[in-house]
Amino acid sequence: MGDILKVGQVFVCSVCGSELSIVKSADGQFAPVCCDTAMEQSSRVNHVYVCPECGAEMMVLSGYDSTFNHYCCDIPMELQAA
Ligand SMILES: [Zn+2]
Ligand SMILES: [Zn+2]
Repeated sequence: MGDILKVGQVFVCSVCGSELSIVKSADGQFAPVCCDTAMEQSSRVNHVYVCPECGAEMMVLSGYDSTFNHYCCDIPMELQAA
């Protein structure tokens, strides 16, 4: 059993630069491979925002959180608690 990965945890391929992000983690041993090489766990975590009204969730995949307006149901979405 490995550590439970955070939602949004980023893995990077050191060969081609591909990135993936965890959508749902469980207690298995997550070990992605790309270009025949184990992908590296990045220090970056894509942030998930939740609508307190309807429960919708979204993830910022690239860009800067500060430049987005995360609105749903006419109210700002909240950063999901870690
Ligand atoms: Zn690759
Ligand atoms: Zn909503």
